[in-house]
Amino acid sequence: MNNYKCNSVGIVGAGIQGVCIGLQLIKKKIPVTIFDKNDPGSMSSYGNAGHFSPYAVVQLNRPDVIYDIPKMLLSSYGPLALKWNYIPKMIPWILKYLKSSTKKSMMHTTRYMHQILDLSLDAYDEILSEIDTTNLVERRGIIYVWTNKNLKSRKMEIKIRNDLGIKQRLLNKEEVLELEPNLSPVFDAGVIYDYAYHARDPKEITKKLFELFLKSGGEFKKKEVISVEQTRYNQTQIKTNSEKFKFEKIVLASGAFSKKLTDQLGEKIPLDTERGYHVHYKNMDHLLKRPVIFLDRGFGMTPMNQGLRAVGTVELGGFDNPISKKRIDYIDKCAKELLPQLGDYHDEWLGFRPTLPDFLPIIGPSLKNKNIIYAFGHHHLGWTLGAITGKIVSGIVNEEKTNLDLSPYSSARFN
Ligand SMILES: Cc1cc2nc3c(=O)[nH]c(=O)nc-3n(C[C@H](O)[C@H](O)[C@H](O)COP(=O)(O)OP(=O)(O)OC[C@H]3O[C@@H](n4cnc5c(N)ncnc54)[C@H](O)[C@@H]3O)c2cc1C
Repeated sequence: MNNYKCNSVGIVGAGIQGVCIGLQLIKKKIPVTIFDKNDPGSMSSYGNAGHFSPYAVVQLNRPDVIYDIPKMLLSSYGPLALKWNYIPKMIPWILKYLKSSTKKSMMHTTRYMHQILDLSLDAYDEILSEIDTTNLVERRGIIYVWTNKNLKSRKMEIKIRNDLGIKQRLLNKEEVLELEPNLSPVFDAGVIYDYAYHARDPKEITKKLFELFLKSGGEFKKKEVISVEQTRYNQTQIKTNSEKFKFEKIVLASGAFSKKLTDQLGEKIPLDTERGYHVHYKNMDHLLKRPVIFLDRGFGMTPMNQGLRAVGTVELGGFDNPISKKRIDYIDKCAKELLPQLGDYHDEWLGFRPTLPDFLPIIGPSLKNKNIIYAFGHHHLGWTLGAITGKIVSGIVNEEKTNLDLSPYSSARFN
């Protein structure tokens, strides 16, 4: 049993990571203040596909994807796109990504994503039981479909999951259509993860968890953080435009935007963003019972309270480029390929996945400032990993022992 109790923590970021970390610290009776320039849960943690997907262990740093990239980029109807004006800035990230895409690196990432994904649903079930999730969480599994075009990749994913003991139920085309009769039969087969579930409104869930945080004694400052700093032994400082705040420890959980602050701390962390998009088809959520992802297209649809949310694609292009109309058209086309009965869409949204080139998050103390703890870089899985990250990071802050091997998530791997 550990007796240490940190006396105060400031968290930068009220996305799903920051809110879950705040909640777990408050449960340990540690005073916490969260800072965010925006409303809680209004960035990536709002517009994602809402999948709680513990099975998603294989990431995009993999040899088979690397070979397909030139072909994907040359096609305007593909799941991957570049904003060419941003590529010079992204070259260091791209080189590290290529280096992390060997079979060995892929398996390293898979193993350590599995370590935390495997705990993710239990961690959520605990905190979701403390809020009213009526009409917010649907437990009907998640389906992926594919054509016979990339069967080698599909077989590899299935084998890796089998080897790790991840439950998956393979489906032929007819079985998919029995579960989702409105789908157009443009695919050849699929898989369902029966135990997975989805959010019908990720922002509302984050908001409810945030309200629980406040009710339990947590504090919130709606302010932009300009700098974070360890001022002396066991003292850190968060600076906003107008004020300075002192804490024993700081947690940096500002998603894709964390790099601005880690650069100031003198750490070279190659965090960048994979831009992703969504649109809504209002009043069309009844067409699907559960999320359906079309793997060939890098896109999926989730029935949500705002309508049927069509989500996806990866665009490398930084923060400043405007929404790409071509990406939105691509998502609309893909949605109508699976559900031709869809009409016009609403709400064009662009979000920023926080992604490191080896597709592992950074969870752990800063190398140069031990009282500043990092919790960002959860890429495509940050929604699923919110609750477990909250548990792990609150344990790190309070210097508790863990059976998990946390070394692969350290920023030391880039320094
Ligand atoms: C299109 C798309 C689909 C996705 N689908 C899924 C999915 O189905 N399942 C899944 O598990 N994951 C999914 N993800 C990934 C997931 O949404 C993200 O990984 C996750 O939301 C990241 O959470 P976060 O708390 O780290 O960051 P964010 O939600 O981005 O929150 C960071 C917060 O920090 C604040 N902030 C930043 N800088 C400062 C500053 N200087 N001062 C004050 N505040 C600051 C921001 O305002 C923001 O509120 C998807 C992502 C996208 C883009």
